[in-house]
Amino acid sequence: MTSAQRTQAQAARGLYLHLPFCQHKCTYCDFTVRVLQERGQITRYLDHLEQELTVLSTLPHQLETLYVGGGTPSLLSTAELERLWLCLSKNWDLSQIQEWTFEVNPETGSIAYFKACRQAGVNRISLGVQSFQTEELKACGRSHDPQDIQRCVAELRQSGFENISLDLIYGLPGQNLNSWKNTLEQALALQPQHLSLYSLEVHEKTAMGWQERKNRLQRPAEEAEVAMYEMACRILAGAGFEHYEIANWSLPGRASQHNRLYWLAAPVLAAGVGAHGYWQERRYENSDSLRTYYQNCQAKDWSWLNTPQQSPQEAAAERVILGLRLLQEGLDGQAFKQDFGIDLSEAYAQVLPALLQDGWVKWQGQHLCLSPEAVLISNAVFSQLLEPQLEG
Ligand code: SF4
Repeated sequence: MTSAQRTQAQAARGLYLHLPFCQHKCTYCDFTVRVLQERGQITRYLDHLEQELTVLSTLPHQLETLYVGGGTPSLLSTAELERLWLCLSKNWDLSQIQEWTFEVNPETGSIAYFKACRQAGVNRISLGVQSFQTEELKACGRSHDPQDIQRCVAELRQSGFENISLDLIYGLPGQNLNSWKNTLEQALALQPQHLSLYSLEVHEKTAMGWQERKNRLQRPAEEAEVAMYEMACRILAGAGFEHYEIANWSLPGRASQHNRLYWLAAPVLAAGVGAHGYWQERRYENSDSLRTYYQNCQAKDWSWLNTPQQSPQEAAAERVILGLRLLQEGLDGQAFKQDFGIDLSEAYAQVLPALLQDGWVKWQGQHLCLSPEAVLISNAVFSQLLEPQLEG
């Protein structure tokens, strides 16, 4: 299949919407976020987002997943959300949606609010918990405390949500193995269906980045972070969770379908300031400046049109690296051959034999998988897979 045929065949399978407003900025946050000062900001944003969504909806799509992230989407009022849902249902075919995720912060929402989301069709919640320790939450600059998390999950359950994912961070300032264990145990006590565990990344242009430059950030040592990760693997396996992606665990059948589309390098459209989408082998990225995003919407200057297509080598390398993140499923060698016209073992004839021999990757039938021992050094493995040879 040529690149042109491959991209023609693909209808978008997922849609991501970015709602950038937050009550304030967390100390580690590097996302595209604006602090909400007054409601008019949301109205203006929705005016532009709707323009983009209406144009995007003319692209071929058969949506299986919808993901509303941010920012703090749950800062929007029910009336603001209804406006957005109406725009979606008017323009998009939502009849095949299997998973509709909405990101929530624990200090927001109410039973009435969550019921309205459930009624609109939201069937999965991703809750930004990060930690159950008051001091750690303070160090992150979060607006919630552990009681908010309990209240929020109870209200989500009462509103009919059966698929709840919790985000947690390890490697936080002041965190140690005991406090991390306690956080994991409190998380499990809430009976979530899914957990995403992220290692703290300190970015230069954040409050934590500033603290680090001034030597005021006390982070756990690297070995302690590794021990936290290994502890999580043990505790979650013991609680019946499948480690299905490097940073994600789920109960059977509850893996994130939307994120799986990213790891399969499937076409996923994205709308909103700073949103990243993948369309016809274009990895497009909307401006992360609100002013430029608004100007682009008004001028109908769409990044999904202007971004150049990846080369076949780039698309193939990305497919391999993303696919290997799926620890159980791995990378489908047959699909790779079908799409890129060459066997994986030929495309990586220079590096694959050594990776197999050293035990970092293994074949499971037609699927190439990362070995459990390689998860902690996955970036080193991936760096060897950046240059497939697609000419036989
Ligand atoms: S709530 Fe999330 S998106 Fe908002 S500032 Fe905090 S980390 Fe960033």
